Amino acid sequence: MTDPAPVRPEIVVDLAAVRHNLTTLADLVAPAAAMAVVKADAYGHGMVEVARVAREVGLTWVGVATLPEALALRAAGDTGRLLGWIGMPQDDWDAAVAADIDVAAYTPETLAVIAQAAARVGRTARVHLKIDTGLSRGGATARDWPALVAAAAVHQTAGHLQVVGVWSHLVAADEPENPVNAVQRARFVEAVALAEAAGLELEVRHLANSAAGILQPDLRFDLVRFGIASYGLDPAPGQWDGALPGGARLHPAMSLRAPLILTKEIDTGEGVSYGHLWRAEQPTRLGLVPLGYGDGIPRHASNTAEVRVAGRRRPMRGKVCMDQFVVELGPAGTEQSDPVSVGDEVVLFDDGRTGAPTVDDWAAAAGTINYEIVTRIGGRAVRRFVDSERAAEEVRG
Ligand SMILES: *Cc1c(COP(=O)(O)O)cnc(C)c1O
Repeated sequence: MTDPAPVRPEIVVDLAAVRHNLTTLADLVAPAAAMAVVKADAYGHGMVEVARVAREVGLTWVGVATLPEALALRAAGDTGRLLGWIGMPQDDWDAAVAADIDVAAYTPETLAVIAQAAARVGRTARVHLKIDTGLSRGGATARDWPALVAAAAVHQTAGHLQVVGVWSHLVAADEPENPVNAVQRARFVEAVALAEAAGLELEVRHLANSAAGILQPDLRFDLVRFGIASYGLDPAPGQWDGALPGGARLHPAMSLRAPLILTKEIDTGEGVSYGHLWRAEQPTRLGLVPLGYGDGIPRHASNTAEVRVAGRRRPMRGKVCMDQFVVELGPAGTEQSDPVSVGDEVVLFDDGRTGAPTVDDWAAAAGTINYEIVTRIGGRAVRRFVDSERAAEEVRG
């Protein structure tokens, strides 16, 4: 990295990487459309900024989970098609309909709430009906689907809402060989047919997330909801070599770096951090990194993860604390051959091109998935946006 060493922990988000990923994914799935999924603050990357990039590269669709997220995007100036798929009874549905947000309905009760809101604000609400094709999470089961479709048709005739989409979500998109994919596809196609037979004219049928959008072309339908791949992270580790048709690759957009704030030596037999999970077997040089589980560093990665300091990977030693963790720099007496100083840059993860750990390395160390690592990073670390293609920089706390 050519940036000067950070003076405090920072999350660096390269918007050029997001731009590359979104354009690459949109090209991949065309003529289906690509939706940029920016829920949970864009998986920790910055919802408003990522949505702005999505619009810049020409994406019609942006998606979030909750209605407050969608309203926050509107407040930030986003005016494009925006789907929020989790509604709660106490949500401000009037505001959502008034703000021209596409909403989802899983039950006739929610349809009634949406229709009433639309009547109050004097608009026609756009609705995506969700069929539960097997995840048993949101959506109407096949048994409940005819009633949902019938209720939607009644509200539509009354002019309060327009059903524009039918959608569902996959169980095992990251396992293309799993037979549940074909089961879900068949159930989805049947639900779409029932909706169309009831007179609903659908603009978009959508089932696929990142993994399916990339690995299972027959699940793309009209629209693919790209979350994790938008951020350049692998939606299906181990299932493919990361090369898209044509050879393009995704670019990880997030790096996490911090200054080293202390170096010291400890004697043989001394233990490190709470509980002395690790003990020095020889006189050892240690470094202190000012990030902890309060900033989203997974405690499950204790004593396992690595970071890069002064050009080398170094192992974490002992438990991750709330605000800090310790790394082993090397045996005592090696300062001359391997100089490391306070203020040096510590790279927890980046895009991996220079040998630093990646988000996937951290996920493996913590026994979780890359999604959870980036989404939880935050706390006191400051997010900084860069654009490696355009040089302009913007800072946000
Ligand atoms: C989060 C989410 C997505 C995006 O999933 P990725 O695997 O990150 O691409 C798509 N659809 C729904 C319903 C989601 O909740």
